[in-house]
Amino acid sequence: MEPTNYYYRSVIKFTILHYTLCFNQLIINIQNSRLSGYLFIPFRDEIATSLSLLAMTFNMAQRKGFVIASVAKQSPIVEKTVILCNMKINEIFTSIQGETSFAGLPFTFVRLTGCNLRCSYCDTQYAYEEGTEWSIEQVLSEIQQRGILRIVVTGGEPLLQNATYTLCSQLADRGFMVLLETNGSMSILNVDRRVHRILDLKCPGSGMDAHMDFKNIGYLTLRDEVKFVISDRNDFQWALAIIKRYNLEDRTQTLISPAHQVMHPSELAEWIMQEKLNARLQLQLQKYIWPDRARGV
Ligand code: SF4
Repeated sequence: MEPTNYYYRSVIKFTILHYTLCFNQLIINIQNSRLSGYLFIPFRDEIATSLSLLAMTFNMAQRKGFVIASVAKQSPIVEKTVILCNMKINEIFTSIQGETSFAGLPFTFVRLTGCNLRCSYCDTQYAYEEGTEWSIEQVLSEIQQRGILRIVVTGGEPLLQNATYTLCSQLADRGFMVLLETNGSMSILNVDRRVHRILDLKCPGSGMDAHMDFKNIGYLTLRDEVKFVISDRNDFQWALAIIKRYNLEDRTQTLISPAHQVMHPSELAEWIMQEKLNARLQLQLQKYIWPDRARGV
């Protein structure tokens, strides 16, 4: 059975297990999978006769942190284990937005689990794996209870989870202002246009510049913002070249940050002024307000 379009919309990352394999091979496939989130099982009728095998496989996959999804809806085991359109959330908290042109305003943050990059200066490594499953309805309810009308959806990399698109749209439908912080490696094309897309363009100092999807620049509007985190002069020159090549000063808002505790803001400020760049120097305010807190700010 082929995955349906419905499933492609609901589940972005999945491992497809073919039950023609023997049980040992199935287990090896699960253990070796590099995917972190979803196990997609294209059920066949004959599987109904192997429920104990199925239960063992699910057990193994769930211990590895997979969400189980399947097109089979009749199976008693599947009914208990299918979780569709859920999100793996690392943390939800209310804080002061430390970056972007909205810096200084209170926001509720939704941090999704998982990242496909490994930046040299990453300060959210705890979001690579840790998290719990939430339904979109639970996330919306938590956000509504907090009573803040501005939301940041962040990560990790939030676009790794398909439910992010739905969450952003549903928040916009309810009148929230939504910022989506994304790491530049995933397409922003299908993100709701009501969302402010904060697009990181990773400089060479991050070690992740080769993963950038520059097609995203063509999708930017004046509502969106592009962010460069600068570790050294080489990074600044790289950012400058990108800004000029893609005319970013005219087509969107440009943010330039010093990598925290890697380079001094005053040096970066000098470079921006020397180049007469139409770009905003930004500091991560939360690191100055709460220097001792690594999470929840
Ligand atoms: S994209 Fe963000 S979360 Fe991912 S490794 Fe880089 S800094 Fe960390």
